Amino acid sequence: MTRRPYIVGNWKMHGTRAMLSEARAIDRAAQRHMKVEVAIAPPYTLIHPIHREAEQIAVGAQDCHHEDGGAHTGDISAAMVADAGASFVILGHSERRTGHGESDALVRAKAGAAFAAGLKVILCCGESAATRESGKAVAFVKKQLKASLPEAAQLPAELAERLTVAYEPLWAIGTGTPATTDDIAEMHSVIRALLIELLGEEQGPDVRILYGGSVKPDNAAAIFAVPDVGGALVGGASLTADSFMGIALAASEPFEN
Ligand code: PEP
Repeated sequence: MTRRPYIVGNWKMHGTRAMLSEARAIDRAAQRHMKVEVAIAPPYTLIHPIHREAEQIAVGAQDCHHEDGGAHTGDISAAMVADAGASFVILGHSERRTGHGESDALVRAKAGAAFAAGLKVILCCGESAATRESGKAVAFVKKQLKASLPEAAQLPAELAERLTVAYEPLWAIGTGTPATTDDIAEMHSVIRALLIELLGEEQGPDVRILYGGSVKPDNAAAIFAVPDVGGALVGGASLTADSFMGIALAASEPFEN
């Protein structure tokens, strides 16, 4: 099945209500690019205001807690972000794994909670520069992804609709230098094979795999031409409608992934 390219903006810890005009501009532009699925994950505080006004784009969260509620000061559950208007959540981002010590087991528990709350999940994986230099990138990413995915019993039936994987090598995030198309091709084909092994021939081929790490309007087309790249997870370049929609425009050319 050929699915629409999926372009997701991760605003990280950027954005006050002053950014609502940028979200509106992204939403308006997305209405002119219906061949592309456009989404943004703003800080928690902007999920509801953006969701309330959005006509085309999906709104998501950048994380959620693995429990439904309780004495967890400062945390927010999957059901809470869904209640605010999020339809998806990014989990296992490297800034959560390194900055907050999130283990694969915790990411797996969060994904289970997110699916149970009816959210779609974008599950991130990716190796550090040291791991790549040691020649162990493929083995690392396979192990990380396998350990971060919930067990089959916790996965929803319509999995290809609900699960997206994002390959984000840490050394490419925020550096201005994306991975080479050869590196992306190699890792995406490894991830595709793993998804088929874990999820079966029915679902594995249809789960979208996004690339993330310094995607910009001027390098997006080359990245989208790589087999098994189903779109992009975009940090810095998602903060303005101009650059983010430049990437969506590159994705609106037909590409068979
Ligand atoms: C990210 O952090 O998910 C990301 C891809 O960031 P950037 O596009 O800024 O490299």
